[in-house]
Amino acid sequence: MDQDGGVDKVASSALAAMDQMSRLSVAPTPENFTVWYHYFAGTYPDLRHTLDILLRNKQSFTGQRNAEIHAKFFPNQAEQGEVIEASQELGAQIDRVLDYLKDAGGSASDYGRTLALISSRIEETTGSEDLKKTVSGILVATRQMEARNETLEQQLSASSQEVDKLRGDLEAMRHEAQTDALTGIANRKVFDAALQTATAEAAETGDEMSLLMIDIDHFKKFNDTYGHQVGDQVLKVLAQVLVGSVKGQDTAARYGGEEFGIILPATPLRAAKIVGDTIRRKVAGKTLINRKTGEKLGKLSVSIGVGRFEPGEAPGNLVARADACLYAAKRRGRDRLVAQNELTVEEALAADGS
Ligand code: GH3
Ligand code: MG
Ligand code: MG
Repeated sequence: MDQDGGVDKVASSALAAMDQMSRLSVAPTPENFTVWYHYFAGTYPDLRHTLDILLRNKQSFTGQRNAEIHAKFFPNQAEQGEVIEASQELGAQIDRVLDYLKDAGGSASDYGRTLALISSRIEETTGSEDLKKTVSGILVATRQMEARNETLEQQLSASSQEVDKLRGDLEAMRHEAQTDALTGIANRKVFDAALQTATAEAAETGDEMSLLMIDIDHFKKFNDTYGHQVGDQVLKVLAQVLVGSVKGQDTAARYGGEEFGIILPATPLRAAKIVGDTIRRKVAGKTLINRKTGEKLGKLSVSIGVGRFEPGEAPGNLVARADACLYAAKRRGRDRLVAQNELTVEEALAADGS
């Protein structure tokens, strides 16, 4: 019951937000939706107060103003998850309304047809004027019903299109919330969630699971030499190498900055090392060229740490161990891979955080 009440509230706040945004001609972006969703949900009194003042003074909600409001109240996007939940519920709600409308339309049309059938039969079998009047009355009613029905169907089709558009917007929103803006691969949030799932599954099934942590070597120097924009392009290229090197249930994500993580469910350490070394060699074998200038860029390399999930440990522990392996790979000269079973005692102690 409690939960249903919560979902209803989320849904009604989401619907009210969409409605208000369309009334105020506010673009249906995830950011604007966040603002208006929380306005109706009443989550932040300050936000509500500010918007109420603007509304009372009939201020227009320009793109710039909307951006300012969002930046002021949501400096970080921590509540993105909640928004996604809300938008999913909104989609479900709209589906229910549509189903209901379709039913209503269908029965009205049945009614009309039945009525017309009866009328025509009565007309054939009697000659009485009174009866004819009644019959034509029924026919008029039937036609009105049909006309209404037609209008309903038109409205239905219009709202179907609206729903399709909304669904598209929501899908884009969901995609955006899960994607790293620069490289287009999974973001840190997806990484954390996938790691949680993969470790839980491994604990349950007893399958081995492994993790690769990958960091570009001397990337600061690369940026300093060729500029940040070229550096950005390199991050994109590397992201594509990673995505192209994994399959199925694996998750390749940008962990942060120039560090990436690959979660390999149902993969023993030995197999993970092969995946990692293939990536390392692919990167080292690449000839990078600045597309704008044609200039040949210096060699790129990555260092990789490989950890295996130990049943019972926290996911963060596995990340720390793979990171310690990565650190060892850097220390040993970069452009190499170190797995947890190859750590020296000293390096392993560093992995324990001691
Ligand atoms: P190491 O081999 O020890 O990893 O050296 P490094 O220079 O790669 O490591 P360091 O941590 O000193 O520097 C990381 C650099 O990565 C600094 C930062 O400018 C760059 N970087 C992080 N995120 C981005 C990004 O989004 N775009 C670009 N172009 N550079 C980034
Ligand atoms: Mg680096
Ligand atoms: Mg780094």
